[in-house]
Amino acid sequence: MSNVIPLSSHRPKKVTPKGMCQHGIHKWVIWKDKQFDSRKGKLVTVFRCERCGEQKVKAI
Ligand SMILES: [Zn+2]
Repeated sequence: MSNVIPLSSHRPKKVTPKGMCQHGIHKWVIWKDKQFDSRKGKLVTVFRCERCGEQKVKAI
C-alpha cells in the first residue's frame, strides 16, 4: 500500500507589505479626523496608509 501524496507544488506564498500597496491594497488608518478643507469648503477625513505613507482624503 502506498499513499504518499506529493507536495512538490505546495509552497507558502511570500507576502511582502509593500507588495500589497503596489497592487493598490493599502492599509488605511484615520490620520486626521474631521479636518476642514478650505479648497472643498467642507470637512474631510484624511486617511494614511500605515505601510507606504500614501494619503487619501474623503469628504464627510
Ligand atoms: Zn500603502
